[in-house]
Amino acid sequence: MSASVEDKSIRPTFRRYRDGEATPGSWREVLFQAGHSHKCPTYVQRTPPCQGSCPSGEDIRGWLDIVRGLDKPRQGCTWQEYAFRRLTDANPFPAVMGRVCPAPCEARCNRNDLDDHVGINALEQFIGDTALREGYRFDPPERETARKVAVIGGGPAGLSCAYQLRRRGHTPTIIEAKAKLGGMLRYGVPRYRVPAEVLDGEVQRILDIGVQVRPNCRVGKDIGLEELLRDYDAVFWGIGTQVGRKLPIPGADAPNCLDGIEFLHAFNDGRLRSVPRRIIVIGGGDTSIDVTTVARKLAGEDSGAAGRPSTYTADTVTAQAAGGGAQVTLTTIFPLESMQASRREVADARSLNVEVQGGVMPLEILLDGQGNACGVRYAACRIEKNVPVRIEGGREYELEGDLVIFAVGQRGDLQGLEAVSNGRGAISAGGVFEVPGHPGHFVGGDIVTPHLLTTAIGHGWIAAEGIDAYLAGAEPARRPKVDEHHFDLLKALRHAGIELADYPHQQVRGTCDAGFAVHNFDNRAEREIVKSSDLFLGHFTPEPRIEREERRLAAVFAEGGERIKTLLEDQAVAEAKRCMSCGLCLECDNCVVYCPQTAVKKVPKGQHAIGRYVFTDYNRCIGCHVCHDVCPTGYIQMGLGE
Ligand SMILES: Cc1cc2nc3c(=O)[nH]c(=O)nc-3n(C[C@H](O)[C@H](O)[C@H](O)COP(=O)(O)OP(=O)(O)OC[C@H]3O[C@@H](n4cnc5c(N)ncnc54)[C@H](O)[C@@H]3O)c2cc1C
Ligand code: SF4
Ligand code: SF4
Repeated sequence: MSASVEDKSIRPTFRRYRDGEATPGSWREVLFQAGHSHKCPTYVQRTPPCQGSCPSGEDIRGWLDIVRGLDKPRQGCTWQEYAFRRLTDANPFPAVMGRVCPAPCEARCNRNDLDDHVGINALEQFIGDTALREGYRFDPPERETARKVAVIGGGPAGLSCAYQLRRRGHTPTIIEAKAKLGGMLRYGVPRYRVPAEVLDGEVQRILDIGVQVRPNCRVGKDIGLEELLRDYDAVFWGIGTQVGRKLPIPGADAPNCLDGIEFLHAFNDGRLRSVPRRIIVIGGGDTSIDVTTVARKLAGEDSGAAGRPSTYTADTVTAQAAGGGAQVTLTTIFPLESMQASRREVADARSLNVEVQGGVMPLEILLDGQGNACGVRYAACRIEKNVPVRIEGGREYELEGDLVIFAVGQRGDLQGLEAVSNGRGAISAGGVFEVPGHPGHFVGGDIVTPHLLTTAIGHGWIAAEGIDAYLAGAEPARRPKVDEHHFDLLKALRHAGIELADYPHQQVRGTCDAGFAVHNFDNRAEREIVKSSDLFLGHFTPEPRIEREERRLAAVFAEGGERIKTLLEDQAVAEAKRCMSCGLCLECDNCVVYCPQTAVKKVPKGQHAIGRYVFTDYNRCIGCHVCHDVCPTGYIQMGLGE
């Protein structure tokens, strides 16, 4: 969560003295004499909270270190491309996600406890847009396994799984029911949030490394499970939730009561070009905001004839439309302040004159003489255990409408796929996203549980690792507690051209200079997240976040163009420099400068790699803790000698 406006006006001071304490004590006394201990520093890598809360598992700190210039590319590679490669190790959709991910990483960023989170999402967009502009490609696999995997569904989960499988040398074929790949990204999320060329560019880059596609083929109808078992060595189910739900209230099956998914599909594939005059959307989550903004866009563009169509489906709702004065109302059972949709999206909808009514539950759809919906009857409600409960004696009222759209959730379409269904409109997943009781079948994304794009991408990666192990005849490894793409110091050393010497097979404890060891180093990244209280926040100067220019939707609809503009290069570099590199060396020199024993030294020239910038000479160290105290990132822990 970002710091509030009030918080941001107070500059943190991190004072060493309390009020009334005027005379400093002897720093030599405090720091040195009193500080002798048998402990020496050890360099402990932990996971920063941004990474720990990115469901795709991105090495965020790693690619930020590249953008800020700390981690340098090898010769022949630009830093932009190097950052792109680090990011896409986990997530092949930086340009898309930089536009539509609600960024749980930013909410957990340690910098929130200093001033404001790092603009991770904006930087992701910068890297993604640069990659598309420069035409960066993914490398084809180094080896071919000739193992074939059927990936059912070409949404983010399926594409992520296929990408990770192909990188491991397998041959995935995406079998997709629709003509184009992208899933909800193409058929749900409106184009003004993700431009088609951005989506197409990032999908094509995955296909270019040798991912096969079989479009217009619905598994369970056009081909059966037997065919999959015959032709493929393993199967990944990434079929998402394609069926919109309606509320079980009287009148909900009227022909002009649609579900939000049907409505958005029709809009995104160009079938829906206009809407009637008065539209009621029942929802409150992000999907309902997309529905209302699309409805408002169509109503605004509309110049057709007034009146209501005689038959209503997502296809035929285009038949007639009202001119100006369209009225779009969104209702939600939640009070306005606790709506599920993000505030930004709600503000956007409001800027388009969408009326939002909170704390009301629909009781029934009102029907006219022909059985068409002509309004909704509501009652005031409160939420108890996530369920709306009517307030006794509360307000009851009717809202008139020519089209009612339910945006209240989705479920999977498992017709013909009963064998893998769990009977609740979903497919169950085990620890590595294997389908219980179906060896060789794996699953991920919304069909497990509807959530976010980044979650579906993360599932696809973990399932691909599970499939990889299955194809090798191995038991899938247990996932670490902190499951993401971790920084690997050995890899960083190799990147810098440093190879370890041969191990002499003699027991050594706590080496600080042996060439065969990654000395002074403890990797706790797979089990520990570094908190802001582990950092020396006083090292950092509060600085406002560099924000992207965001335009109101009303302006986008009127003038065209992108809603969110990508950062300029110098802005991106400056913003990346706000990252505090939580849990990994920042190369600030504090420990070298402040060590009273000159025991901490920079590694010799040619031995430097990210994460291995300094070392401690244990013969000189007295265990005074100064280096630990002044380390801004929590990387230095007093441990050795315990
Ligand atoms: C309107 C809307 C807006 C959203 N906005 C956001 C957002 O801003 N940010 C965010 O993070 N998340 C958002 N989400 C959620 C996000 O889109 C999903 O979490 C994500 O798309 C799930 O990916 P998936 O691959 O599991 O499923 P999907 O994206 O649904 O893809 C599944 C694919 O499988 C195909 N398929 C289905 N059945 C079969 C079959 N039997 N045979 C072959 N193919 C099949 C489908 O045609 C589809 O292409 C939004 C969702 C909706 C509906
Ligand atoms: S995918 Fe989302 S959570 Fe992950 S780094 Fe990007 S914005 Fe953050
Ligand atoms: S400061 Fe940097 S490393 Fe730390 S949580 Fe924020 S983005 Fe991640």
